Formats: sequence, C-alpha cells, structure tokens
Amino acid sequence: MIYQYWDEKMETLPRPELEAYQLRQLKAVVSYALKTPFYRERLGGAGIRRADDVKSLEDLKRVPFTTKHDLRDGFPYGFLSIPQEEVVRLHASSGTTGAPTTIYFNKEDIARWTNFVARCIYGTGCNRADVFQNMISYGLFTGGLGFHQGGEAVGMLVIPSGTGNTSRQFRLMRDFGVTVLHATPSFLLYLESMMREEGVLRESLKLKKAFAGAEPYSEDTRRRIEELLKIDVYNSYGLSEMNGPGVAFECQRKDGLHLWEDGYIPEIVDPDSLEPLPDGEIGELVLTCLCREASPMLRYRTRDLSAFYTEPCACGRTHRRIRRITGRTDDMLIINGVNVFPSQIEEVIMAIKEVGNNYLIVVEKEGVLDRLTVKTEVGPSIFMDDARPLNALKERIRKTIQASITINPRVELHQPGALPVSEGKAKRVQDDRPRDV
Ligand code: AMP
Ligand code: ZN
Repeated sequence: MIYQYWDEKMETLPRPELEAYQLRQLKAVVSYALKTPFYRERLGGAGIRRADDVKSLEDLKRVPFTTKHDLRDGFPYGFLSIPQEEVVRLHASSGTTGAPTTIYFNKEDIARWTNFVARCIYGTGCNRADVFQNMISYGLFTGGLGFHQGGEAVGMLVIPSGTGNTSRQFRLMRDFGVTVLHATPSFLLYLESMMREEGVLRESLKLKKAFAGAEPYSEDTRRRIEELLKIDVYNSYGLSEMNGPGVAFECQRKDGLHLWEDGYIPEIVDPDSLEPLPDGEIGELVLTCLCREASPMLRYRTRDLSAFYTEPCACGRTHRRIRRITGRTDDMLIINGVNVFPSQIEEVIMAIKEVGNNYLIVVEKEGVLDRLTVKTEVGPSIFMDDARPLNALKERIRKTIQASITINPRVELHQPGALPVSEGKAKRVQDDRPRDV
C-alpha cells in the first residue's frame, strides 16, 4: 500500500528530532503560559519562572495538571495569553452554556490547527478531487469549522451542511456527488436507517469514506457503519481544549489513532494516583498543547481513557498511536455527540420550585440514536391528578433543559417519593446504552 502524507517531513520525523522539536515548542508555549496569572503561579510553584527553566521534556512532569474546573474558574479571559487584538477566533466546549471552557486562537494558531486536520484527512487517501459533506455542528463546537478548514486546505470541495435534516443531506449528496462525510457515528447509523426509510438507493450516491468522532464508539460499530453504508470509516479524536479535531486520527491501516506529537505531548496516567502508566496500559490521557499561543494548556486532564500502542505503525508515521477512547473517568455523558454533565441538568431543574427533590437522568438507545429522559418528582404542592398544570410544568422543564444543554429531553413527572432513593450516594444517572467498546 502506498501511503500519502500531507506534511511528510513532520509526519515521519525521526523520534529524536521529534522530541527536540517538542522541547522547542514546549519552551515557546511555556513563555506564553507565563503571561497568564494562573500558569505564572502554577509554573512558579514548579520552579519554572522563565521558558529557559525548561531544560528537557522531563521538566514538564513537574508542572501540576490542569483541569476543566481550572478552565471554568478562569472564564472568560483567564487563559488568554496574548492581547485581545491579536485574537481572531474563540471556540467553546459543546453542551455547556453556564460557564463554558473557552479557547482562543490567533491567526497562526488557526493555521497550525488546520495543518493537523489536513494531515488527518489527506492521510486517509482523500484529495482535491473529493467532495466533502461536513455533517457536524458549526458554531462554537470545534468539529464544524475544524474539519471545514482542514478540508479546504486539502482542496476538497467542502459542503458545510451541518447536522440534521436527512432529506436535505441526501439531496446534497446526490446533487454534488459527495464522496466523503464527517459526522458522529450515531448520526451515520441514523442516516443509514433514514436512507432505507426515504428510499434512497446506495447506488445513487458516490460515497467512499466517512470520518466519525466526537463520541465513543466500538470497533463493532465502525464495522457496522462500514458494511451498512459501504464506506471506509476513520476514527477522529479531538477536544476543544486541544483546538478540536485533529489531535489523533486513524491512518489507512485503521489500527489505533496517530496522535500528532509535534502539536501535543501525550501522557497516560493512572486516573487515581496520576502516576504515569507503562505503554499499553489503559489510563487517562493527559495532553499538553504545543501548537497554540493564544490559550496555552499544559498537562490537561482529558478524562478520556486510552492507552499507547507499543509498536510503530507500518504507514511510516513516527507519531505514537493511541487506542480508541474506551470511556471517561468522570460522569460526563456524551449524548448524540453533545457533552452533558449531570450537574448541568440538576442545576436547571432544581431552580424550578415546583420540582421535588429527587430526579433521575436516563439515557438509552432509541433505534440508533441516544435518547435522554429526565424523571423528576414534583413538589408536595402539585396535584398529580390535575393534568393541565402538570403538562405545563413538564413543558417548562423540557424547555429549560433544552435551553441549557441543547438536547431536547423527554420529561417524566412522578409523585413525591416515587423515584428510587438509594442509600448513600444517590444514583442520579442511569445509562442503559449497550456498552460494547
Ligand atoms: P468537545 O470538547 O466538545 O469537542 O468534546 C471532546 C470530548 O468528546 C472528548 O474529550 C471525548 O470525551 C469525546 N470524543 C471526541 N472524539 C472522540 C472519539 N473519536 N472517540 C471517543 N470520544 C471522543
Ligand atoms: Zn499509521
């Protein structure tokens, strides 16, 4: 097999050179980080007061971890390390409205990010002859614009279709001879079921490939999508704190995701002890961003579980591979690709005074899509036999939740005391989705 590289020199950089490059970038990023009060204090505590205090990559291990909590505390500008006039874009993590985690970019940051996404796309065999339908949310979420830029850089014809409206999606695919898709794995499965429902013939489409990410899925799910849609599916991993997509991606061997180590320093640590784990063992992925000046991020705890591969890849890329993400170390749910913390739901429902004290968040599969149901008890002042105010309350809860997390939930109201109360730590989340990762 002949492998094509977008940025051959960097993608195949020999290990010692790659590490020398990482050290240079790390120093540069530390010099930006030192401009923020947060990192000035953190780095100072680790004996790093100037970029030159970083003498080797090992020195990074002295830096304390950064968490999503730290980012929220720093909202809105706490992690901005350049004058605001130089910032050209911001993105925020999906599904959050209250205190989002915001990342800033200058022009060069966008260019570097674009290069990483272009490598991912080109490495799967795409080129300028392809027509690319980007079926993921545009906006604050990084998936839309991230892939859009990468696709344009490769020279593909990019159709910014966004999510939803399957009939329109099929029309675009047919009208423009779309060859490549980007979507969440659940949307790809949904698309297939809608194809049958709407009588769209696979032969009428020119689809060859899809990039699927933003949520965990198993090897079996990938195979199922590939067989049903008769396409090649590539796993795409990223997170807004590390720019978004373009952090790690499968090459044509589809065996692990190459993590671009000239852009990110990865570590896998034990989620409890936070000590490094030997290669091959599953632990929490910690990332340091080397490719962004406007919002430095050192040793960020992704909460995603993965492991390093120990063998180099036959494609010739020197960047280490990680296993597909197998889960998370916190309670964050990913519902149809949108990140939701149970606490976000709690916050909005508990602010409604007619709502009782007990609630339960249920996530299940309905067909191929995720379905969120929020069950709450009503307060003692509500009569369960009076349908009209009950329906009005239900609707109010539904709308408030949707406004906060962007997902439209099903709402169930129960009598006080009707929902199960567990002893000790309350079980607020019931995730009934099959786990086949
Ligand atoms: P966001 O910051 O909104 O882009 O969400 C990033 C999170 O989405 C990651 O930390 C992962 O938990 C999840 N995610 C993104 N891509 C993948 C993937 N390919 N497989 C599993 N989880 C993913
Ligand atoms: Zn490879």
